[in-house]
Amino acid sequence: MCAMVKAMLVASLIQMIPFAANAQSLADRYRPAAGQILGASLQSSTAYDQLGELCDHVGNRISGSTRLDQAITWAVKTMQADGLQNVHTEKVFVPYWKRGVEKAWTISPQRHELSILGLGMSVPTPKGGITADVVVVGSFDELDKLGEAGVKGKIVLYDVPFAGYGKTVPYRFAGPSLAAKYGAVAALVRSVGSLSFDTPHTGTLGYQEKLPKIPAAAVSIENSTMMRRMAQRGDRIQLHIELENELIPNQPSANVVGEIVGSEKPQEIVLLGGHLDSWDVGQGAQDDGVGCMNTLGAAKAILDAGLHPKRTIRVVFFTNEENGDFGGKGYRDAHKAELGNFVAALESDSGNGPVKGFSLDLHGEGRNKTITISPEEKARAENGLALLKSFAPLLEPLDATKIEMGGSGTDIGPIVSEGVPGIGVSHDTTHYWEIHHTKADTFDKVIKLDMQKNIAALGILAYMLAEMEGTLR
Ligand SMILES: [Zn+2]
Repeated sequence: MCAMVKAMLVASLIQMIPFAANAQSLADRYRPAAGQILGASLQSSTAYDQLGELCDHVGNRISGSTRLDQAITWAVKTMQADGLQNVHTEKVFVPYWKRGVEKAWTISPQRHELSILGLGMSVPTPKGGITADVVVVGSFDELDKLGEAGVKGKIVLYDVPFAGYGKTVPYRFAGPSLAAKYGAVAALVRSVGSLSFDTPHTGTLGYQEKLPKIPAAAVSIENSTMMRRMAQRGDRIQLHIELENELIPNQPSANVVGEIVGSEKPQEIVLLGGHLDSWDVGQGAQDDGVGCMNTLGAAKAILDAGLHPKRTIRVVFFTNEENGDFGGKGYRDAHKAELGNFVAALESDSGNGPVKGFSLDLHGEGRNKTITISPEEKARAENGLALLKSFAPLLEPLDATKIEMGGSGTDIGPIVSEGVPGIGVSHDTTHYWEIHHTKADTFDKVIKLDMQKNIAALGILAYMLAEMEGTLR
C-alpha cells in the first residue's frame, strides 16, 4: 500500500471513530430507559384488555355512527385512566355512510347468491335493484380495450388478484368511475385481500366528480373467480344487485387527544396515533383499534417506567380515516400555527403483526404524486434517516431494527405534507390483508405478545424522539 493511500485510510478511520463512539454512547445512554419501557410493556396487559373492551362493548364504529360516538367517550375515559394529561376531544365534521340491505345473485347461467359488501360511499341502486349482464375484466387496460361498445349497459367486474394493497386497491377506489366512463350501470370488485373464506372486503371508493356515480360493491374472491370461469367458458352472466345505502353529510365527530407533557420542552410535540373509526363490519380490531391502543399503550409504558420525556408526547385517536380523512385534515387545519413545533408524527395503521421497524416519510399526501426531490431535500432525508437509525440498537431485543424511507399513515398525511416528519410502523402484514375490512376483523385474532412488543417498540421510539438532539426535518 502506498504511503498516501495508507494516510488517507487512517484519516478516514479516524473520522469514523467519533461517529461510532457517539452512536455507541447514545445507545448506552438510553439503554436503561429502553429496558424499563420494554419491561413495562411486557408486564402489562392493560392495552390488550382495553382493546377487548372496545371491540366487545362498542364493536365496529363507522364515522358518524352512534357507535363511534360511544367509542370517543370511551377513549376519553381510557386515556384519563391511563394517566394521560390534557385529555380532550377536538371536533370535526364527517360523512355518515349508512349501509342498508345488500343482496346480489346471478340469474344465468345458474342462480347463485353472492357474498357482497357495498363499497363505502357508493350510491344506492335504484329501487328494485339493477339487472344486467356482467363483463369481467382483469385490468384497466382490458376495460379500455372493451370501451363503450363492450361495457355500456353492463355491470363491470374487476377480477384482479391481490398483488399487494397499494397495487390492487386502485381497482376498488377508481374502478367504479372508470367503468361509468364507458356507460357501465354498476361495478363489482374482487375483494382486495389475500385470502377469503367467502368474506368480502369492503373499503371506500372515490368517484370522479364529472362522471356518473354508479353503485359498486366488493364480491368475495370465491364469487369473483366463479364469474371469471363462467366468462372464460363463454357463459352469459346475468346478475341482479340491490344496494340500499344512504349518505348523510356533515355529522359531528371528534379526534381524541391526550398527552404526557414534556418536562423541558413542553411546546415541542411528538405525535403518536391511529384511527378510532372502522368499517361497519367485524369489530375494527386490527383496523385500527389495535393501532390506537398500541400508541396509548406506548405512552402508558413510558409513564409506568417512571420516565419524564423532555418533549411532549401527544396521543391522537383520529376519526374518519376510512372514508374521507376528515379527522386528519381537521387536525392539520386546527394546528397549522404550531406544526413547526412538531418533531415527528407516528401512525400505527397496519395491524398487530410482529413489529419489524419503522419508515420515515417526508412526503405525506404527496407520496403518490410524482415529486422532484432537490439535492438539499435528499441530504435532509439522509440525515433524518441516519438519526432514526441511531436508535436501532435499542430496538434490537424486539428485532425491530428495519429503518428505511417509506410511507407513514393516512391520518398524519396532511401534517406530513406540511413538513412534519412522518413515521410509519413496519409490521408483518401476512395475516392483516386476510381480514382487513371484513366481518372477520375481530378481537380473537389479536395476539397479546405481539401487541406488547409493538407497544414496547413504539414506546422506545417515542421516548427517543422526545429526548433526541438533532432533527428529522
Ligand atoms: Zn386503517
